[in-house]
Amino acid sequence: MKWRAEWCKNQKMSARIKSDYITGEIGMKRIVKRIVKRNGMAIAAAVLLIALIFLGYLGMNQMGPFAKKETPEWVEEVWLTPNSYSRPMKPLKEVNNIVIHYVANPGTSAKNNRNYFENLKSTRLTKASSHFIVGLEGEILECVPLTEISYCSNDRNGDTVAIEVCHPDESGQFNRETYQSVVRLTAWLCLHYGLDEEDVIRHYDVTGKNCPKYYVEHEDAWEQLKADVAAAMGQN
Ligand SMILES: [Zn+2]
Repeated sequence: MKWRAEWCKNQKMSARIKSDYITGEIGMKRIVKRIVKRNGMAIAAAVLLIALIFLGYLGMNQMGPFAKKETPEWVEEVWLTPNSYSRPMKPLKEVNNIVIHYVANPGTSAKNNRNYFENLKSTRLTKASSHFIVGLEGEILECVPLTEISYCSNDRNGDTVAIEVCHPDESGQFNRETYQSVVRLTAWLCLHYGLDEEDVIRHYDVTGKNCPKYYVEHEDAWEQLKADVAAAMGQN
């Protein structure tokens, strides 16, 4: 009678499987559940491995949480939260120019502008950021580490470092404190990358945009700024 009991059990089982198919219970969910149950450890190991490879990639590229501050102590490190609108964590592999910009928002502070970049992760208004912002009191904020690109200079984002500069009024001219910090920072960057003052360019030189306004409209002031950078490099 044993075979009969076995036969009955098999019948019941196949009936259950049939009903599962009919009710759709044997679907992806159930299959996934079974795989996870059987291969739980293997899946956990695979996920862990992928995570380790990703973290290793970030570490090797000195990006994200593994980035090291390279800049002098007079530069304040306030990196943006990684996000695809202002800090995409794409590696900056070479630097051929330093690009100067103006914020085009008279009287705003470096912190205001840094917060604008930070908030793009939620506002999603546009893709924008800058490696540095120089403020009205001469303060220098570093928003994106030098190992990563920023979204500032259009198709030159991949091989330039960007500096956004605050200005007190519509003319776009930098005040004394701001100007001195721009010169100091730019000179440091030139020395750091083996560049000279002729490698310092304006956003205008990349796209023709009127940025930094005053230094596009006053060629002599721009030439003077580059001369001051060269002089500051000599002092270092
Ligand atoms: Zn610009």
